[in-house]
Amino acid sequence: MGTHPMAFSGVIGQAGRVAGPEDSPVRSADLRIGGRPLALVSPARVYVCGITPYDVTHVGHAATFVWADAAASVIRMSGVDVHTCRNVTDVDDVLTRAADASGRHYDEFALSQEFLFEQDMRLLGVRRPAHEPRARHHIPQVVQLLLALLSAGAAYERDGHVFFRGADVPAQSGLDRDRALELSREYGDRPDDPLREDPFDVPVWRPSGDTDPAWPSPWGWGRPGWHAECAAMALCAFGSSVDLLAGGADLAFPHHAYQSGMVEAATSVRPFSRARLNVGAVLKDGAKMAKSTGNLTLVSELLREHPPAAVRLLLLDRRWKQPWEFRTKDLGPAAARLERLYTAAGRPTSSATATDAVSAALLDDLDVPQAVDIAESEGGAAARHLIGVLSLG
Ligand code: ZN
Repeated sequence: MGTHPMAFSGVIGQAGRVAGPEDSPVRSADLRIGGRPLALVSPARVYVCGITPYDVTHVGHAATFVWADAAASVIRMSGVDVHTCRNVTDVDDVLTRAADASGRHYDEFALSQEFLFEQDMRLLGVRRPAHEPRARHHIPQVVQLLLALLSAGAAYERDGHVFFRGADVPAQSGLDRDRALELSREYGDRPDDPLREDPFDVPVWRPSGDTDPAWPSPWGWGRPGWHAECAAMALCAFGSSVDLLAGGADLAFPHHAYQSGMVEAATSVRPFSRARLNVGAVLKDGAKMAKSTGNLTLVSELLREHPPAAVRLLLLDRRWKQPWEFRTKDLGPAAARLERLYTAAGRPTSSATATDAVSAALLDDLDVPQAVDIAESEGGAAARHLIGVLSLG
């Protein structure tokens, strides 16, 4: 296990100690995410909330997946093995309706969208995750999770529905109830549903009508809710906790909050995620890029006219948490910065200190702008190192 050049056998005697302790290749203790240290032990477990395959990928989605990929790559750079898991939410009412509208079966429709998504990701240099679980393959695990939640008193059944008790979830996310209600409604939840004991309880199992996909369960034929699907898939891939939970900023609440709450309630292991990477929203014309608002720039369109590495650099050349405005005209300067980086990389020499400074910037909360600045001015090995780690070649 491990790719670092440490010897398997220790050195005996002073004579064999040719490298100083400062030359140790093990660096992960320097990593900071979200302003806090995140020391890692191989393998680091990175769970990325993946797509609901009902539509083509836009720049907002791409930013999340490119950042999750860059984070995994920086962890790998620090000498720690990384196991990534990026799920596919292929059981979801939005997908069922989109498939209906196109006259296709939902799973065949989902596969065709996944194919297009994977093509975009490949062009953007996003590594294929070790695990790519699909929700429809994990229904038995969701049912097991719900049985565990029921047995822990963290869920209850009403008329073929199972609800997760979520009254504490807003406070655990640092949100007041009004703001949390607003966010829940934005996500299409129905806090005023009379079956619920509390507005923040969420359905983790619902009976299916004739046009919904349905599976048998102890509560009748039905289908799981999104948060429970991701909770079950994460449990399946990594067990009771993950080192890094990644997704768009809008997933922090309710999705990640409920996913974490469910796993913690079922396993008693806290926290479910040691760190989070909730990537800042991409705006267009001042509003969050989203299908519902129609202000989309599709990745496939962008890649037809611009080099993928320039698109990737534009997405990464900022602090990951900050929301930002996407403007196609900014691809010109991004491409120019990339060219300067390539030119700098062609310079023959740079000091080992410069390469270390690039690594240090990346380990410091993934400070890509700082790392690119150093690589551009120092050139040589430092620039080649950055191009490699961020897959900008
Ligand atoms: Zn998820």
